[in-house]
Amino acid sequence: MGANATRFVIIGNGAAGTYAAEQLRKDDAACEIVMIDDEQYTLYNRVSLPRYLKGVLLEQRVYVRDQAWHDKNRIDLRLETKVTQVDFEHKTVMLDPGGELRYDRLLIATGGRPNPLTCEGAVSARSVFNFQYFDETKAMVAKIPESKVVVILGGSFIGYELTEAFSFRKLETHWLMRGPWFLRRALDEAGGKIVSLLAEDQGVHLHYEEAIAKVEQSNGAVKVTGTAGFTATADIVGVGLGLTMNIDIFGDTGLETNVGVRTNEFLETNMPDVWAAGDVAEFYDVVSQRHHRMGTWDNSLNHGRHVAKNMLGAKQPYVEVPTYASGMFDSNISVMGVTTEEEPDAEAIVEFDYEGRNYKRLFFLGDKLVGAMLIGKMKGRKKVLELISSRTPIDRREMVLEMLAMPEVPARPAPPA
Ligand SMILES: Cc1cc2nc3c(=O)[nH]c(=O)nc-3n(C[C@H](O)[C@H](O)[C@H](O)COP(=O)(O)OP(=O)(O)OC[C@H]3O[C@@H](n4cnc5c(N)ncnc54)[C@H](O)[C@@H]3O)c2cc1C
Repeated sequence: MGANATRFVIIGNGAAGTYAAEQLRKDDAACEIVMIDDEQYTLYNRVSLPRYLKGVLLEQRVYVRDQAWHDKNRIDLRLETKVTQVDFEHKTVMLDPGGELRYDRLLIATGGRPNPLTCEGAVSARSVFNFQYFDETKAMVAKIPESKVVVILGGSFIGYELTEAFSFRKLETHWLMRGPWFLRRALDEAGGKIVSLLAEDQGVHLHYEEAIAKVEQSNGAVKVTGTAGFTATADIVGVGLGLTMNIDIFGDTGLETNVGVRTNEFLETNMPDVWAAGDVAEFYDVVSQRHHRMGTWDNSLNHGRHVAKNMLGAKQPYVEVPTYASGMFDSNISVMGVTTEEEPDAEAIVEFDYEGRNYKRLFFLGDKLVGAMLIGKMKGRKKVLELISSRTPIDRREMVLEMLAMPEVPARPAPPA
């Protein structure tokens, strides 16, 4: 390594960190790249964890990059190493183990950690799991053969993924949500009912406006007492209660943080030579013209690739409509742009069909379409994305629903060369 090579230090080897490292190496053969992570694994795909839990994906298919790839790309990966402190003035990070490390340019890609169950008995209960890491997923997989009853708490995507995996495994699955329906801030009652119908079609037992008040370990099982009358003896309790961003190490350093690390549209923080990317970046989004965070794989990957170019001297704004697509039991769900979850002032129009289990909700700010949620048929998804990203003024909102109902025009074959 040349004595004058720029040293890039990346905290976090998730999608954001690893794809940033990959791009840095592609665009700068001479630079030095050090990537630090407190987990024991090279990059694995968190999006694959639900399929691994379901038993339809082998463990080795969850990995995205191995150690040999890092060696080949000269990325100095330090696993099971925690960054405990950052000194932005002297441009150093403190590693445990490892001591002090100097950086020229720093990327914060620390993601978030799951909020634990905090009710009475939760600390000592052995079979209560979050769902963020490979290790806890492996622990649940190991417990499945001896399990019959599962209780899941959480009315968002992680609660759903856990519920779907265990019901697929044919375990008696109880899904508890604190709210009146799934994704209560983004879906209305009709959307919530479509999700309930899809869950019930799979044999899931739903319990709305119910949380866990107490858990008691009793031999291998956990006695669960709900806040509104629910009781069960469960072999596994899974919780999806949201994430807390990993920003604690920045304490009172002066780095601007809110829920995550605040950045401008170039993913630059308020500290010189420091950028943030992925789940932890609360970035200025030029499409929705506001700061927000995205918790998706594609956003983390694209942030990683994009930020690397800016860290090498480009100054390009990150412009991408956030999207999230997932299975929804035997159907699909897609979220695009911003919803009333992030933008409570957005106005929504909706169209649904209980029998067909189809649902569309479109979100507007003034005359602009800013987001959408689709359940069931995904027809029109591309048109919606185009309208959001082009910020086309829309006179009559229902026109968008009418447009989505129109048959898709098949792509014209390319003329012969
Ligand atoms: C079960 C599950 C299912 C999901 N399904 C989907 C889906 O269907 N579609 C979708 O788009 N997204 C999905 N996601 C979300 C997606 O996986 C995340 O948005 C993405 O992986 C985040 O990547 P990241 O690189 O920003 O952060 P992370 O992957 O969280 O990486 C951050 C890393 O930094 C490490 N770290 C933090 N602080 C320190 C420190 N001080 N020192 C050292 N290391 C540190 C962390 O341990 C972690 O390894 C899912 C997530 C989960 C858990």
